[in-house]
Amino acid sequence: MAEPIKILIVDDKPNNLFTLKTVLHEAAAEFVEADSGNEALRQLLHHDFALAILDVQMPEMDGYELARLIRGREKTSRLPIIFLSAIYSDSFHIFKGYNSGAVDFITKPFHPEILLGKVLFFMEIYRQQQQLRETISELEHAKQLVLEQNRLLERMATHDELTGLCNRRKLAEVMKREAERSRRYGTELSLLMLDLDHFKKVNDTYGHDFGDFVIKEFAARILAGIRRSDFSFRFGGEEFIVLLPQTGLSGALTAAEKIRALCAEQPFAGLQISIGMTVSIGIASYQDHKPQQPDDLICCADRALYLAKESGRNRVVVYNSTAEHCDEQ
Ligand code: GH3
Ligand code: MG
Ligand code: MG
Repeated sequence: MAEPIKILIVDDKPNNLFTLKTVLHEAAAEFVEADSGNEALRQLLHHDFALAILDVQMPEMDGYELARLIRGREKTSRLPIIFLSAIYSDSFHIFKGYNSGAVDFITKPFHPEILLGKVLFFMEIYRQQQQLRETISELEHAKQLVLEQNRLLERMATHDELTGLCNRRKLAEVMKREAERSRRYGTELSLLMLDLDHFKKVNDTYGHDFGDFVIKEFAARILAGIRRSDFSFRFGGEEFIVLLPQTGLSGALTAAEKIRALCAEQPFAGLQISIGMTVSIGIASYQDHKPQQPDDLICCADRALYLAKESGRNRVVVYNSTAEHCDEQ
């Protein structure tokens, strides 16, 4: 059940507080009483009120001063205040009440029905404000969910599920950007194309699930072999691409050899057996091979990879454009 709405009633005379509660009984609110301005301020620290009904004349701190302090505090600056006064019914005091931040100034004797009607009105406003706050918080929550789902969708669209590396779609985007940068600023850019050697045998011998495990392990090894500024992609089944910005052929060779050696390390994490897996790597470089299109760089590296396979696997081969063949390293 929802918590009852709270109303602060402030009066230095207990009888007046009692009368107020009796008159407003029908409102079914929780009345928090204060017999002085200071006590009211203390209660305001501990509760959220829909409304404050203040006596004007009180010792030490009168209603005007209390209203001014209520208005001055961030948390209570919008709290509706109704003044109740038996003594001050002249326009000077009524306007002083409004100037100190009151929304209403009721003089005694008041008509119980009128006060009750006003109190019910402010309670309804408070209820609606609460509902609005809840709706806003639900909308904020829904917005966060949508943002999170968009992030997931974006990740699914650009990453490979099995290895967590970027996928081919992302490769096209990154290639275009990096090739453009390389062309415009004359910076170097190299590409490694990697393919696991005799991988079909792994699937045939140990099953597809183990094959998946091996692909994941190789992806992790590739990642371990490159720098944070490099990009790695799963190009297809057991083929990977590494893009090395600001890296020429000699740097690419070092990176490729590091990855090749890491991949050839046995046994795999958590496995006692050695499955003798290796990787072949083809290299092409933007400034050396001057591809017309970004995709041509992939073709060059693929051609070099083919020769790496032809010449025995578990090796790195650089594409040689002038001789129309690849240099094995
Ligand atoms: P090579 O040294 O010439 O590259 O020989 P290979 O056996 O690695 O190459 P081939 O292209 O003949 O076989 C690739 C195999 O990779 C065949 C395919 O079933 C397997 N493969 C492709 N994608 C996946 C995958 O996601 N999971 C598993 N387990 N196997 C895959
Ligand atoms: Mg292959
Ligand atoms: Mg293969």
